[in-house]
Amino acid sequence: MKITKELAEKQCRKSLERYRFAGITKVRIIATNVSCPSCKQRAGVYPIDKVPPIPNPECTYPIKKVGLPKEQANEHGGWCRCCYAPVVIDI
Ligand SMILES: [Zn+2]
Ligand SMILES: [Zn+2]
Repeated sequence: MKITKELAEKQCRKSLERYRFAGITKVRIIATNVSCPSCKQRAGVYPIDKVPPIPNPECTYPIKKVGLPKEQANEHGGWCRCCYAPVVIDI
């Protein structure tokens, strides 16, 4: 299956919807340890209504490393590989 930026966006929005439906109020943005500085900075816990979008439009992770055509990169030439994870325990 071809992965497009639009598809990635849609999938991330869908997971947020699922979390919201499940009563989750906070989500964590998970960056990988090779993520770009912008993504690493965004990693953390957010209220579900204030969570920044994934893919990160500011991402500068080199798309060549992911092996995708550069037309699929964002305007900064990056391909965000972050994901959302539900925060289930709220202490
Ligand atoms: Zn990035
Ligand atoms: Zn990212």
